[in-house]
Amino acid sequence: MADFKLTYATMFNPPEELHTQYDASLAKWRANLGREYALLIDGKDVFADEKFEDYTPINIEMKLAVMQKGNEKHAQMALEAARKAFPEWSRTPWQERVKLLRKAAQLIEERLFDLGAAMSLEVGKNRMEALGDVQETADLISYACDQMEANSGYVVEMGRDPLPNHNATNVSVLRPHGVWLVVSPFNFPFALTGGPAGSALVAGNTIVIKPATDTPWIVRLLVDCIHDAGLPNGVVNFVTGPGRTLGQALVDSPILDGVTFTGSFDVGMKIYQDFGRRNYVRPIILELGGKNPAIVSRHANLEDAAAGIVRSAFGLQGQKCSAASRVFVEEPVYDDLVGRLKDLTEKMVIGDPTDRKVFLGPVINKSSYDDFKSFNEELSQAGRFVTGGQVLTEGEYARGFFCQPTLVADVPFEHRLWQQEMFLPITTVGKVESLDEAMAHANSVNYGLTAGFYGSDAEVDWFFDHIEAGVAYANRPQGATTGAWPGFQPFGGWKGSGSSGKNAGGHYYLPLYMHEQIHTLVRPKS
Ligand code: NAP
Ligand code: MG
Repeated sequence: MADFKLTYATMFNPPEELHTQYDASLAKWRANLGREYALLIDGKDVFADEKFEDYTPINIEMKLAVMQKGNEKHAQMALEAARKAFPEWSRTPWQERVKLLRKAAQLIEERLFDLGAAMSLEVGKNRMEALGDVQETADLISYACDQMEANSGYVVEMGRDPLPNHNATNVSVLRPHGVWLVVSPFNFPFALTGGPAGSALVAGNTIVIKPATDTPWIVRLLVDCIHDAGLPNGVVNFVTGPGRTLGQALVDSPILDGVTFTGSFDVGMKIYQDFGRRNYVRPIILELGGKNPAIVSRHANLEDAAAGIVRSAFGLQGQKCSAASRVFVEEPVYDDLVGRLKDLTEKMVIGDPTDRKVFLGPVINKSSYDDFKSFNEELSQAGRFVTGGQVLTEGEYARGFFCQPTLVADVPFEHRLWQQEMFLPITTVGKVESLDEAMAHANSVNYGLTAGFYGSDAEVDWFFDHIEAGVAYANRPQGATTGAWPGFQPFGGWKGSGSSGKNAGGHYYLPLYMHEQIHTLVRPKS
């Protein structure tokens, strides 16, 4: 374990030891790739008849792991195990649950570098992004524990109603729902599995985890941390396999009491509708896509704006739900800003993301790679490439899914790609006459996840007041629309970007995993 703590601050100025430890972990994995990993059901490793192979997007010939192709039967087994474990876990004192989850967070921190290196290989994340995803997960779990403690387990004494000849007490308690499903996306496989899982578990639910098919390995390593912390068998279950079959079977099962789904709008809305066809309404938390705007005023510090925009447009290859995918610039500073964006983008280092010098790795899979080519074909008809537009196929790029970070200007605002999430390193830039025009465009989409602004202090108030987004950043060179940390920037979306209206890693989040019960007791006055 490192003798420094990776925090939001060290992310921008890492000590040398971070690199040494990461490199050691990477070498260890490289010598030991390709082993088989099981499902975890009722505390036991379970193997399916069918398997699938997991390759790195850096090199399509490098096999990372062999995983189980779970089916409907495994979905059922995992849910039944969670159902069986629920009564005892839900009645375990919350202080005891907190203790076990703090242990899980500690194990994640102890394994930070091994997990970060595996994450870079599986997702194609650069090392800082990979380590950030892992550390953030430990912090999200700790934050859920902190919230449980700060609220004394959500037991609140209410008023005593004045009854003649009787004493009344009323107590509000929050109690867990039951069996909770966590379905996570490929791009933040740690934080977006471990965050919801940690909250569901601290609250007293038992869970089934289903990761994305692109990232089953790293999520199994996360499940090991939680399991090794000593949670009772069946409290945490893990299944891998196709979303369309295994995932759908989980969603459709009558055993299920609640869901947290993080992923695309289309899949999320389908799950929402399917989950609604039941005998009563159960909770479902959806964290969906984004089409995040950055607005640049004529009064902006253009150096900060350019730095923040390229970071957020191209960090993790633009495959963040919070990526800055639309930029609106006031006419007087448009040419200047676009020139700066071009310069900074062309300086970005693309390559094997485990290399410390590299900022952009590959996109996640062939389907993303093919999308990149077809979106650029379409954009070449509609606008002008400021920079990028091509896939990289030579030399070190030949066996991976590498794409140039791409900026496109002069695309008419009516074009569908100003509205649709591309989820790639492609950002469109548009010139506006006024900030009001920029705001109208910014709010014109179905999404409302994050947004960024660069301008004067007076304009910032106006921005916060008008933007439709769950996370709004102003004058931030570290990222126009990206970068959230539990306890600092709780993360969630409005409109088509999220269903609960409460942000993960914030003070309203944990209660989403519980329902309220009022205990009224009346005794005769003695
Ligand atoms: P995705 O294709 O929607 O998949 C998300 C998860 O759903 C995967 O585990 C997938 O499994 C599973 N799934 C697919 N069909 C299912 C079904 N019928 N029933 C149950 N589960 C099913 O998303 P992705 O490509 O992994 O992630 C990218 C998307 O996530 C983007 O839209 C991004 O904006 C969004 N995202 C949002 C947030 C946020 O906090 N708001 C954060 C990160 C990402 P398979 O992989 O096996 O198909
Ligand atoms: Mg892969």
